[in-house]
Amino acid sequence: MPLHESEAIVLQSYPLGEADRLVSFLSRNMGRMRGVARGARRPKSRFGSTLERLSHIRIWFFERETRELVRISQCEMIESFLDAFRDYASSVALSLFSEITQAVLPDKEAADANFRLLLLCAQTVKRTSKAEPALAYFALWTVKLGGWLPPLDICARCGRPLLEQAQSALPAYFSRSSSAIVCANCRRPGMRAISRDALVAGQRMLAERLDRLDEDSVSLRAAKEITETMLDVIEHQIDRKLTSRELLESA
Ligand SMILES: [Zn+2]
Repeated sequence: MPLHESEAIVLQSYPLGEADRLVSFLSRNMGRMRGVARGARRPKSRFGSTLERLSHIRIWFFERETRELVRISQCEMIESFLDAFRDYASSVALSLFSEITQAVLPDKEAADANFRLLLLCAQTVKRTSKAEPALAYFALWTVKLGGWLPPLDICARCGRPLLEQAQSALPAYFSRSSSAIVCANCRRPGMRAISRDALVAGQRMLAERLDRLDEDSVSLRAAKEITETMLDVIEHQIDRKLTSRELLESA
């Protein structure tokens, strides 16, 4: 039973048995994993609050070749996000970060870019208390890293540039069923309009760092449109609804 040490982010944890916790976490070197923390629900457990959602921790665990679950032996807090969950809009964004990361990443495959994205976006929400731009950035980049991002500049059907049709205030349409963005000419019934502002903002998010994007470059409305579109793409890929998304509608 080799002992591993890794930087990690806690994605979810569930009660197990009388006093244990089943923990899903994203290890920096080994990818998404699941493990058991014995006695973690006992008062004065040695795990303290390290197993709360999105905790950025150092983790030590044993891996057994014949079993899927690792045994978590020790955790040390690097950064806690517990306080950020007290604000409603922040807590919805943070819940979506953990739910989406858990849903899109395969087991035990290193995903350093996803790790850095998750940490950056959680830290931004915690620091700024502004959930919208970080959520849009997270959703867009998760889709990009997954290889599912439709072109934001040309029509998926006819190849015409989407942003040069200056006559239209609503230059593009998004198809949920095919995760494609098309021009006004190729529009089909049931497709949702996506604004020019949102497409431009999406391109900026792909080119700029999150901390360089202010409300002049990405408006609140554009950020919400990007989030809606990218969450649709993610749900299409994982073939189910995201539970935390329902909380977003009422936020
Ligand atoms: Zn077209």
